[in-house]
Amino acid sequence: MRVYNFAAGPSTLPLPVLEQAQKELLDFNGTGMSVIEMSHRSKPFMAVNDEANALLRELMGIPDDYSVLFVQGGATQQFAAVPLNLLVNGKADYILTGNFASKAYEEGLKYGDMAIAASSKEAKYTYIPDMKDVKFRDGIDYVHTTYNNTIFGTRYTELPKTDATLVTDMSSCILSEVVDVKKFGLIYAGAQKNIAPAGLTIVIVRKDLLGKASPVCPVMLNYAIHDKNDSLYNTPPCFPIYMSLLVFRWLKSLGGVPVIQKINEEKAKMLYDFIDNSSFYTNKVNKKDRSIMNVPFVSPSEELDAKFVAEATKAGLVSLKGHRVTGGMRASIYNAMPIEGVKALIDFMKKFEMENK
Ligand SMILES: *Cc1c(COP(=O)(O)O)cnc(C)c1O
Repeated sequence: MRVYNFAAGPSTLPLPVLEQAQKELLDFNGTGMSVIEMSHRSKPFMAVNDEANALLRELMGIPDDYSVLFVQGGATQQFAAVPLNLLVNGKADYILTGNFASKAYEEGLKYGDMAIAASSKEAKYTYIPDMKDVKFRDGIDYVHTTYNNTIFGTRYTELPKTDATLVTDMSSCILSEVVDVKKFGLIYAGAQKNIAPAGLTIVIVRKDLLGKASPVCPVMLNYAIHDKNDSLYNTPPCFPIYMSLLVFRWLKSLGGVPVIQKINEEKAKMLYDFIDNSSFYTNKVNKKDRSIMNVPFVSPSEELDAKFVAEATKAGLVSLKGHRVTGGMRASIYNAMPIEGVKALIDFMKKFEMENK
């Protein structure tokens, strides 16, 4: 039996996509082999690679003067790749809105003069700093932001006011809502939250930023090299690229990002409304900054939190335990989580509240 899987990442994938992958595993497109057994330079795989790239461009409305790269090493590798490729003046500003934002900053410190332009650490990252109050230094190469904060359940609704190149980590929200790619110089995202299995990282970068990498930048982190080779400089993560293609086709068949955004907003609203109207559950995030992908919440005590997670698991609602730094619960409700899953969660929450009040 399939459960409702609220894991933060790797996370649930659309059932029709899994079924198609299963069907094609022994014989992909009449080749007599699976897509994970063939050369990455074979015609069938190159077609997968090209279609995945083209479909992502279509779904996100990525302009022609941007490159879409399929790389490895996770979002964490991008914490180093970004400064190694983009630093020309040697300095950049970071906005710290959570664990991953802080890790990006700490990694960046190895490569340049990095400063913290704003942080919500003092309030345990329960809000996104007000962009009109955030000032940046002159002469910086970029401003780094984390668009959706997976652990703390916040998201930007307004972008920093700056002429500097805007870089953002969209690992946990890519394709969940419409974004204007032109506002960013670089977007990166690990695939394992809202797209595909782990192993693939997507980089969307404006082409004028390519070719300026530091001389010590490893070839595997050099965007210009991946761009020149259509992401086939070395063996790419073939399986996650193939799975991404299936997910992109699935998303397109639903009507694309505007349609999934509406569904995501409806799912999130149902859950937040329920929590806000309850005297039992609490979400501590500033309302304006609430994520529509990751919803952290607590019950009245740590003992009840543990009981909640255990009983939810038995009821087929799994991976609801919050991140170790926040405790409590977290429901990750990515694109692939059906609305029925959120309804089932709310029904369970009601029942649990009645029994434990
Ligand atoms: C999960 C996550 C990361 C880390 O991704 P890895 O692929 O494990 O390196 C970084 N940033 C955000 C926003 C994330 O959600």
